[in-house]
Amino acid sequence: MEKVIIIGSGPAGLTAAIYASRANLSPLMIEGFEAGGQLMTTTDVENYPGFPEGIMGPELMHLFKKQAERFGTRFLTKNVTKVDFSQQPFRLWVGEEEFKAQSVIISTGASAKYLGLESEKAFLGRGVSACATCDGAFFKNMNVAVVGGGDTAMEEALFLTRFAKQVTVIHRRDAFRASKIMADKVKNHEKINILWNSELVDILGKDNVERIKVKNNKTEEISEIPMDGVFIAIGHKPNTDIFQGQIELNPQGYILTKPHSTWTSVEGVFAAGDVQDPTYRQAITAAGSGCMAAIDAERWLENQGQ
Ligand code: NDP
Repeated sequence: MEKVIIIGSGPAGLTAAIYASRANLSPLMIEGFEAGGQLMTTTDVENYPGFPEGIMGPELMHLFKKQAERFGTRFLTKNVTKVDFSQQPFRLWVGEEEFKAQSVIISTGASAKYLGLESEKAFLGRGVSACATCDGAFFKNMNVAVVGGGDTAMEEALFLTRFAKQVTVIHRRDAFRASKIMADKVKNHEKINILWNSELVDILGKDNVERIKVKNNKTEEISEIPMDGVFIAIGHKPNTDIFQGQIELNPQGYILTKPHSTWTSVEGVFAAGDVQDPTYRQAITAAGSGCMAAIDAERWLENQGQ
C-alpha cells in the first residue's frame, strides 16, 4: 500500500514528488513512457525563474528528477492503464500489475492536437510531426510548414529556421494568438513566410510529404505548394482518457479542481499541472500546482489519521 502515487512526471508531478518525499511520504511516481512531459521536446526555456541565461527543457527536467530522487522518490517508467477511484484504497493498474494507494496526485499533462486529416495520419513520421525539437533536424535546407498561430507555432517556426530553407506559417485567421514578442520575431524573420486566413486541407506525396493543399478561407481558393515537412502546432489535449467516469472533467477533458486547491471531485485524489489547467500552462505554474498537490495530499492524509 502506497501513501501517495503520483501519475506523470512533468514539472507538476516532479515538484509534487520533491515535496511529498521531503514530507516523508515516500511517493511512488509512475512516470509514463514519455517521462519528463512536454519540456522534453522544448529547446530553450527562458522564462523559468532561477536560470537567467535560460536552460534546455530536458536539462531542466533532469534537474527536477535528480532533486526528487535525492529525497527518496521511487520511479516506475510505465504508463498507468486503468484506475478505480470508487473506493479506498484507490487502485491503479499498469497492465496486469495492480497498485493500491491512499492518495493519488494526477499530473499527466497534455498532448499535441492534430487537425484530423487522413493524410496527416498517413504521413506521420514521414514528413508530418508535432514536435520541431524532435524532428526539425531532418529538414535541413528543405521547405517546411507550421500550422497554428499560438506561441507553440511561433516557437516551432523559429526553431525550424535553424535547419530549413524556408518556413511557411499557415494560420486560419489574420492575426496571431501568440504573445506579441514571439509573433514579432516570426513576422520579422527573413526565412519565415506567413499565409494568413489559410487552412491546410491536404498533404500529398508518395512515400514522404511532397506537396500540401492550402485553402484561403476568404477567397475559397485552393493552392498546391511544394513542401517537405508539416509541423502541426494547434494546441494540446489533456491526458485524461483513463480518468473518464472516475473524476469530474470539464467538457474539454481537463480535470476540474476545487478553487484555490488541487482537490478533485474524489477526496484523496489531487490534480496538478496542465491536466487541470487550460489557461496558464507554463512550467512554473505547473510546478507551483504540483507543490500545492503534495501539500494538499499531505494534509489530507494527516486528517485521515495517517
Ligand atoms: P493555443 O491554444 O494558444 O494556440 C493554438 C493555435 O492553433 C491558435 O492560433 C489556433 O487558432 C490554432 N488552431 C487551433 N485549432 C486549429 C485547427 N483545427 N485548425 C487550424 N488552426 C487551429 O496553443 P499553443 O499550444 O500555441 O499554446 C498554449 C499555451 O502555452 C498558451 O498559453 C501559450 O502562451 C503557452 N506557450 C508559451 C510558450 C512560451 O512562452 N515560450 C511556448 C509555447 C506555448 P486561433 O488563433 O484562430 O484560435
